[in-house]
Amino acid sequence: MNEKLIHPVDERYISFLSDESKQEGFADTISFPSSPEELLQIIASPLPAPITFQGANTGVEGGSVPQGGSIINFSRMNHIREIQKLSDTEGYAVVEAGVTLDQLAQEIRRSLKTDDYIWPPSPTESSATVGGVIATGAYGMTSCYYGTKNLYLRELTLLHSNGHTEVLSDIPEPFQLPAGTCIVKATLKLLKRPANICGAAFFFDTESNALACADKLQNYVPDNKDVLIISMEYIGNTAIKMINTSRELISVLKDVPALPSDAKAVIYVEIAGNEESQDEALMELIDITSEYGSDPDVAWALTGYTEIRKMHSLRHAATESVIQFIERKHHEDNRIIRLGVKPLSRGRSFQETILSIIQALEDANLCASIYAHIKNSDIQVNFLPENFEDYQKSKNIANTWI
Ligand SMILES: Cc1cc2nc3c(=O)[nH]c(=O)nc-3n(C[C@H](O)[C@H](O)[C@H](O)COP(=O)(O)OP(=O)(O)OC[C@H]3O[C@@H](n4cnc5c(N)ncnc54)[C@H](O)[C@@H]3O)c2cc1C
Repeated sequence: MNEKLIHPVDERYISFLSDESKQEGFADTISFPSSPEELLQIIASPLPAPITFQGANTGVEGGSVPQGGSIINFSRMNHIREIQKLSDTEGYAVVEAGVTLDQLAQEIRRSLKTDDYIWPPSPTESSATVGGVIATGAYGMTSCYYGTKNLYLRELTLLHSNGHTEVLSDIPEPFQLPAGTCIVKATLKLLKRPANICGAAFFFDTESNALACADKLQNYVPDNKDVLIISMEYIGNTAIKMINTSRELISVLKDVPALPSDAKAVIYVEIAGNEESQDEALMELIDITSEYGSDPDVAWALTGYTEIRKMHSLRHAATESVIQFIERKHHEDNRIIRLGVKPLSRGRSFQETILSIIQALEDANLCASIYAHIKNSDIQVNFLPENFEDYQKSKNIANTWI
């Protein structure tokens, strides 16, 4: 065993035995390669099996939680090799797997001297690593425009468990990482983000009105063909309550105004286009949302990337507030961990699917935070169990939805 690179797991490494799901694991050894060469040396060593790969441990599904064996943590393999502009609309970045999204954004800004180029996959958690994002196929609010399957990769270097390195340049969509294989390095496609952006948050005093409106908006196509819809999000009543009660504990919310006190649901639409076409689309959106009882006078209009960040922070807080709740419950009873599902719609509309979830939760006397990407009916239900009995009931009900 290479003692310089492979360490026995002791109390110093406790934080590497869980992720944001709050599942707890165990392992015999942990290593932190700081280069592909060190990674090769580690893989060539007689490591206790199984091997669990880790990025930043921000995952919410327990994928980086070891169940014995060895951990290989990529957080120190975080070198950015190259960032280049290819044209006025595209560029690329060659990065090691442990580079975080924050680090990538900063380095793009520094190298290209602009904020305009992005790597499109954007789960709201910016401390996640490129390797973690690729391995989980993560995506976020802007998936409405950038898609859910395209990882925007030009090349991917993988290391298989037999020590064989493979360089893929034709990457299938969706990409499925073979078991036991790790991501070493990636050449990311960078795109110039739309120049003019704005967002509007519409508030509703009942969830059923908001959901009926969301059904209508799913088919909304702006009259002006120059307008691009970048994001369309739904945040339900319990998610709003969770955000409001956790507000003090969530740092990204410090610049975000309080939501209207009677808001029971929010629909957020983000669009890009020139000023005139944006105005036209906003008027159309006001017409549609007003039909379902949203008051345009209390809606938020956000112009430019700095302003829309507030809404991205709010959406981030929806997940963060659930994680904080589960963390508290896990301390009370360590059998409780995060329980989230993406229920299948089974031919029902967006509205019908969510209303049936709300009804089922009410009938079972359970609670869950619900938010969704509206356009692709991508609904996230995060259970909020008060105790282990609730947790088990939630698990049973979740199994009937998938
Ligand atoms: C507040 C919050 C908001 C979030 N929002 C979103 C969201 O909007 N959308 C979304 O999809 N996710 C979201 N997530 C979940 C999480 O951020 C993403 O899944 C992220 O991609 C995980 O990256 P990571 O580096 O932390 O990976 P980890 O948690 O460390 O690992 C996740 C998985 O990737 C594997 N992995 C990591 N690195 C490698 C590697 N180099 N080679 C092979 N396998 C590897 C691990 O084995 C594990 O299976 C959120 C999390 C938080 C805490």
